[in-house]
Amino acid sequence: MDIRVGCGYDVHALGDGLRLVLCGVEVPHTKGCIAHSDGDVAIHAICDALLGALALGDIGKLFPDTDAKYKGIDSTILLKEVVDIISAKGYNISNIDCTIAMQRPKLRPHIDAMRARLSEVVGIDIERISVKATTTERLGFEGREEGVSATAVVLLIGA
Ligand code: MG
Repeated sequence: MDIRVGCGYDVHALGDGLRLVLCGVEVPHTKGCIAHSDGDVAIHAICDALLGALALGDIGKLFPDTDAKYKGIDSTILLKEVVDIISAKGYNISNIDCTIAMQRPKLRPHIDAMRARLSEVVGIDIERISVKATTTERLGFEGREEGVSATAVVLLIGA
């Protein structure tokens, strides 16, 4: 049995009046992520963790932001493509653990919807998907509400 671990990290700047989409769930807020895609920073971190586990590069290599076909794209589509690549290589996802760092709004009320959406897209049980949120106590770019960061760790098991 081959066990692989991967970690991912992503950051997006926040802009006024944009949609805020995290783990495929739209969160009501006055600001959203500035991005070529829908700016789902959490899904981007998860994609990089999955790719990293198999040393397959990163999301920017797979889906270049210079390519017009990815403009405004729903990041769940990118995640599904990454999961298909992992499956084709003969690996199953054991679990995903993701942390989103954002000062406002409170993400707690949306966490279970995010886990459910990820479970749907990735095709593993919700009990194997953890999404956590933290503020940074008003420190750094997240604390000043200039941006959002997300980290993710995944474990893959080779068939
Ligand atoms: Mg990104």
